[in-house]
Amino acid sequence: MERLLIKNGKVVNPEGKSGMLDILIEDGAVKQIADAGEINADSASDPSGLKTIDVSGCIVSPGFIDVHTHFRDPGQTHKEDIFTGAEAAKRGGYTSVVLMANTIPAVDNTETLEYVLERGRQTGINVLTCANVTVGMQGKELVDMDALKAAGAAGFTDDGKPLLDADLVKRAMKKSAALGMILSFHEEDPAFIKNNGVNHGKASEHFGIYGSDREAEISMIRRDIELALETGAEIDIQHISTAEGVELVREARKKSAKIHAEATPHHFSLTEDAAIEHGTLAKMNPPLRTEADRLAVAEGLRDGTIEMIATDHAPHSAEEKSKPITEAPSGIIGLETMLPLAIMNLVEPGVLSIEQFVERASCGPAKVYGLDAGVIKEGMQADICIFDSRGKWIAGDYRSKSSNSPFTGQEMRGMVKWTICRGTVVYEA
Ligand SMILES: [Zn+2]
Repeated sequence: MERLLIKNGKVVNPEGKSGMLDILIEDGAVKQIADAGEINADSASDPSGLKTIDVSGCIVSPGFIDVHTHFRDPGQTHKEDIFTGAEAAKRGGYTSVVLMANTIPAVDNTETLEYVLERGRQTGINVLTCANVTVGMQGKELVDMDALKAAGAAGFTDDGKPLLDADLVKRAMKKSAALGMILSFHEEDPAFIKNNGVNHGKASEHFGIYGSDREAEISMIRRDIELALETGAEIDIQHISTAEGVELVREARKKSAKIHAEATPHHFSLTEDAAIEHGTLAKMNPPLRTEADRLAVAEGLRDGTIEMIATDHAPHSAEEKSKPITEAPSGIIGLETMLPLAIMNLVEPGVLSIEQFVERASCGPAKVYGLDAGVIKEGMQADICIFDSRGKWIAGDYRSKSSNSPFTGQEMRGMVKWTICRGTVVYEA
């Protein structure tokens, strides 16, 4: 087992000790946290095997946690698999990911769930997965939620597909509330969509199509908040894209702390202008919308309405993305560029402090999903991200199997230098 001494870092650790601190790690756990210079080789039980990392100028934070990731495994491993996905996560500073259940076959059964978790255990990071809400993601019949919880599901979702049957949603909420599990929702009513992935407005006009109207998201968020308040369910509104959606969550959270929301890096960084500029590489569900929406998502992150930055990492092959805008699949990769996009579009403009950013990327998701993570603390598993908030690099050369991103080739500010999971360095820049 690796013994590590992390020296001279600025520790940003919203749920624990922060400041200029040194951290000693032994047997996978944080053994000691002390003022810089106070820990030396003698503090380790076996000084001879101690590896010291000088992280001067860097920020040391809890490892990032992504509650919305697609690794496409099983079934679509030409896009990504659990191992390449985990490598992308490590490069992005992530030590925990929660996978979505829209694989082939879907995670509507314990056998597939166990396959994902078993592979995940071989990656060196914490790979969790949600299970589906409905059998085959058909939106008709609830899965065996008891069995899937017992087998280790992190939550329930039919992400990728909206749940159109409100009565079924209500039953799912009652059941998940009884089980103490979270339900996460992809909110897009197809009644308001003719071509998904492109905002109905300036972008759809550019392509000469109808696109996806904002009401698709707003109407379903409204419905699910109402049902959650009625049933007492804990819910997570995924990848929120509209100002109205953010406001609905803001109002709902005044009534119940069990209503949560996620924002993706692309929704706080880009508008529908990017769809016009990058075409299918900026096509995603829900679509990029207006500058007012982008600012509302950022404001939601600032005031805590949105507690989680979640990537919706959605790999697709170059061949799939080379299809026409109406035919190419929706989604972009996101794990490897989350940190710089948050630094450039939230921290640098003064929307979030570095502390608030770390909360939304780590402690916040840990709390909402009930994970024993998101804090650097003596005795706890050592899951740590060390980054240079000014480090420059050009987006690209991804660890992901796919490279579908509108950010490729652009200069990024904010660079992960080391990712440490269970006390082991799993990534070094
Ligand atoms: Zn989704």
